[in-house]
Amino acid sequence: MTASRRCSCMGRKRKRHTDPVYNRGRASHPPCKRGRGNKPGWVGQTAIMLKGQLHIHTTYSDGELTPQEAADAYARLGYDFIAITDHDHLLKPSYGDAIALVRSPLLIFRGIELTVHCRKGYVHVSRIEGDKEVLYIFNHPADVDVGLKDCIRLIGEVAKQYPIDAVEISNHGFYTPEMDIEEIAYPKVAADDSHNLLGCGRGWIEVDAPRDRDEIIRAVKAGRFTNCFAGDKARRNDAKESKIRIA
Ligand SMILES: [Zn+2]
Repeated sequence: MTASRRCSCMGRKRKRHTDPVYNRGRASHPPCKRGRGNKPGWVGQTAIMLKGQLHIHTTYSDGELTPQEAADAYARLGYDFIAITDHDHLLKPSYGDAIALVRSPLLIFRGIELTVHCRKGYVHVSRIEGDKEVLYIFNHPADVDVGLKDCIRLIGEVAKQYPIDAVEISNHGFYTPEMDIEEIAYPKVAADDSHNLLGCGRGWIEVDAPRDRDEIIRAVKAGRFTNCFAGDKARRNDAKESKIRIA
C-alpha cells in the first residue's frame, strides 16, 4: 500500500467507532470523501494525514464555546489542528491573548472571519495565520443567494481584494455538490463553521503535511488534502441527486 492510500480512516477508524463523543447521534463511521476538490494527480507525501478544522467560532464572537472548550472538543474528536476564526465585526477584546492561552495537544491557528463588502452585499473570508504563511478562504459560497455564475464572479471580485487560496465546499459542515465544480478553480475545503458543541466534527480536512503551521497552510494551498463529511446521511444523499444550476 502506498502513502497516497493512507486515508486517516484507516488509522483512526477504530477510535472513531469507539469514541462516544464522535459517535453521538451517528449510526456509524461515515465515509471520507477522497479526490474531488483535491489537486488532480495529488499523491500523498507523508506517512500520516493530519485531521484539521479551519472554521470555528467561540465566545469571542457569536460562538458558545470558549477557545479552550473548543480546543478540548476537537481534541476529543481526534483532530490534530484547528483554526479559530471569530467574526471581525463581533470580536471581543483580548481575542489574540485568549487563543495564545489555550492549552491543548492540538496545533492552534489564530484566524479571523472577515466581512468583505461587495456588490452583492457582503461575504465572509477567513484569514488564517501560520508562523509566516497566511491562508485566505472564501467561506460558504452556498450561502450567497445568487446563481452559480454570479457566485463565481463574486469569488473573482473578492479575489481582487484578498489573495484567495481556497473555497469552502461545505455549508455548515454539510457537503454542497453544487460548489464542487471545476469552474471554481481553487482547492475546496470542508469545514464545520461550528458555533457550539453540536457543530463540531461535521466536515473536516485531512492534510498531507508535517505537523507545522506553515507546512499545513502550504499543503492546503497546494490541494494536498482530503475532504471528509460526517453530516446527516440522508441529506447527503439528497444533495447527490440535486441538479447543478448554472444561472
Ligand atoms: Zn463562520
